[in-house]
Amino acid sequence: MESPYLNSVRIDRERCTGCLLCVKNCLVQAIRVRNGKAVINSNRCIDCGECVRHCPTRAVTTWAEPLTELKKYKVNIALVTPSFYAQFDTSVPSAVLWAGLREIGFDSAFDVPLAGDYIAEEIEAYLAACQGPFPVISSACPAVLRLLQTKYPELLSHVVPALAPAEAAAIYVRRETTRQLRISPEEVGIWFLSPCPAKGTNIHQSVDVRHTAVTGSFTLSSLYAPLTKAVKKLQGTHNEFEEIPVGTSYGLSWGLKTGEIEATGERNALAVSGPKDVDEMFQQIMLGNLSDVKYIACYICAGGCIGGPSVAVNKFVAFKNLQRRISLRREREREDRRDAMRAAEICENFPHSADYIKPLQPKPVPPLDADFGKALEKMEALTALEKTLPQLDCGACGAPTCRSFAEDVVRGYAEAGDCIMKGRRKGAEAAEPCSGESCSRPE
Ligand code: SF4
Ligand code: SF4
Repeated sequence: MESPYLNSVRIDRERCTGCLLCVKNCLVQAIRVRNGKAVINSNRCIDCGECVRHCPTRAVTTWAEPLTELKKYKVNIALVTPSFYAQFDTSVPSAVLWAGLREIGFDSAFDVPLAGDYIAEEIEAYLAACQGPFPVISSACPAVLRLLQTKYPELLSHVVPALAPAEAAAIYVRRETTRQLRISPEEVGIWFLSPCPAKGTNIHQSVDVRHTAVTGSFTLSSLYAPLTKAVKKLQGTHNEFEEIPVGTSYGLSWGLKTGEIEATGERNALAVSGPKDVDEMFQQIMLGNLSDVKYIACYICAGGCIGGPSVAVNKFVAFKNLQRRISLRREREREDRRDAMRAAEICENFPHSADYIKPLQPKPVPPLDADFGKALEKMEALTALEKTLPQLDCGACGAPTCRSFAEDVVRGYAEAGDCIMKGRRKGAEAAEPCSGESCSRPE
């Protein structure tokens, strides 16, 4: 299954027991169990991380850079995301978290919610002028963008042409750092503190940005232990901690599924999260049932980015932490949302999305055959084989459904004989029909 597409989830074959839980929970049917071990097809994978959540043996992991990568750059800057803040309760002030990041190797930090304020304003202006198609779909979650590319390419024209706040932050920080320190862009490492695999993949193979300004990503789970240690050490000192400029409570709320809508001020909007709900919502848009909604913010992780598979703390704890941090920022802000956001926008020449994004391209699953005639023949063979299968979707063949198994056979990835239930059923049909009270087979 060679693929031109990257993905950031990995299977540790030693740990994998072939239990099929990942196969059954993958929305886009990207996983098969072959010879007792799970295998991911990168052509289909959207990096949602559901397999990470469901694997009972922790055999599925998300790839991310190790902290030693910082040594390759003269200056390293951490992009501090709302989901990062959500890992710590409010007894750890933001300034101590930023100081902690310096302790573990970063030179400085940039508050991504600050970029969220600019992007929310762009989206608000876009929605005010937009003539359709509706609903407009948020561009913030790269796993959602990949789902659209693979399964709903007809909806790509609905996506708002706006950078994700972290990308906008990276463009700004790289430009300003090279200008102020008079160093080359290659000497600057800009690091995303990531809650999920999709954002990591989008740095190395972006679906929506022409040239990403982000160098790489560290998962929140990998940073948590060293940072907690550094924070504890710092809290035992009497140091004064340096404050960095921050965005508003609205920019900070983007870590929650409803935050983006709140930041844009759009009232005719829906917030949807979790792979199954996002998928169901796209089906409803395809059916035309949501064309009276103006904006849909959708996140593949339940609850928004705080529910990502690469976070360190439980999503309900993270929700509570982030809500409290949002309240703290809001207490210090002007009452009107727009006034509060404009007061926080202190960056000169903040990047405009239109200068950096590229059109989203469909990324369909490869056809059954490059030759159209042969592809048709293979489709007929697939349908014929599917009819002979027991329709139990039991997964014993290693595929999630009988239809996906039939497709695997036609593509040459599996043998028709791999369906053990078909063999059993034939055996049962050949056996003498049971009769009377001695029969223990269910009716
Ligand atoms: S969930 Fe998938 S990766 Fe984990 S043990 Fe089961 S088959 Fe293997
Ligand atoms: S990350 Fe998501 S799409 Fe990719 S294999 Fe895992 S469950 Fe499937």
